[in-house]
Amino acid sequence: MLEGKLALVAGVANRRSIAWAIAQALHAAGARCAFTYQGERLEKTVRELAASVDSDVVVPCDVRSDADLDRAFGEVAAGLGGLDILVHAIAFAQAHDLQGRFVDTARDDFWLALDVSAYSLTAMARRAEPLMAARGGGSIVTMTYLGGERAVPRYNVMGVAKAALESSVRYLAADLGPANIRVNAVSAGPVRTLAARSIPGFATMEEMVAERSPLKRNIDAADVAKTAVYLLDAENVTGTIAYVDAGYHAMGM
Ligand code: NAP
Repeated sequence: MLEGKLALVAGVANRRSIAWAIAQALHAAGARCAFTYQGERLEKTVRELAASVDSDVVVPCDVRSDADLDRAFGEVAAGLGGLDILVHAIAFAQAHDLQGRFVDTARDDFWLALDVSAYSLTAMARRAEPLMAARGGGSIVTMTYLGGERAVPRYNVMGVAKAALESSVRYLAADLGPANIRVNAVSAGPVRTLAARSIPGFATMEEMVAERSPLKRNIDAADVAKTAVYLLDAENVTGTIAYVDAGYHAMGM
């Protein structure tokens, strides 16, 4: 389906990461993947995972740094020979902000969460634009959660960041559409990953999805990957958010 496409996957921390499930699905669909990771402690894991999908283009990138982003996009473009696909699966908030009340969020912590979890999509899209335009277009997908639309207990500042991320998807789709670059998001239900473990009450979120969603079950990272690949491939879909949550978002109670 994506034979010969060149993809950058950002946000693999380990084999449970949603980004890793998407990378595997991209590889199965015929795409060639490059990876960015944050910090030396992740390098060995990400290199080993990358090797298992025949990739050796693995570069460090902390999305808070413009210099890092510039270098990483340069190395990825050189390593792959271009860019057609960007997978953005990155988010961060201070652990203390994922408990207690949103109203108590400090200014610095607010900006940190918004910077890493929302602005980084725009920063990456801007660097991807010329590379994708040079190949006649491209496709970008990011990861969001229902907490960006509704007040989910303890999701707090991350929900505000997801609201900014979802709005960014629409504005980026409008800006980049004329260059045939599409921008979409998957809104995923709870999936057990490293980031998810830092959300207190995560198990309760899973229980509620199993109890109240139309399909009465939880989803996994492979389900998210399937829809991400669909969005990356769907040539006339842009500016949209696809829910992969067993239908939970459709329920009033
Ligand atoms: P994950 O495996 O922990 O992935 C999150 C990634 O973000 C990690 O690789 C993390 O690296 C990276 N990251 C954090 N700060 C960064 C920075 N400054 N620069 C570069 N990378 C940075 O968790 P995940 O659940 O797969 O999360 C992927 C995306 O899916 C996130 O946007 C998350 O909000 C979204 N999502 C997850 C769920 C869920 O239930 N799991 C549901 C809906 C949406 P470090 O490990 O080094 O911090």
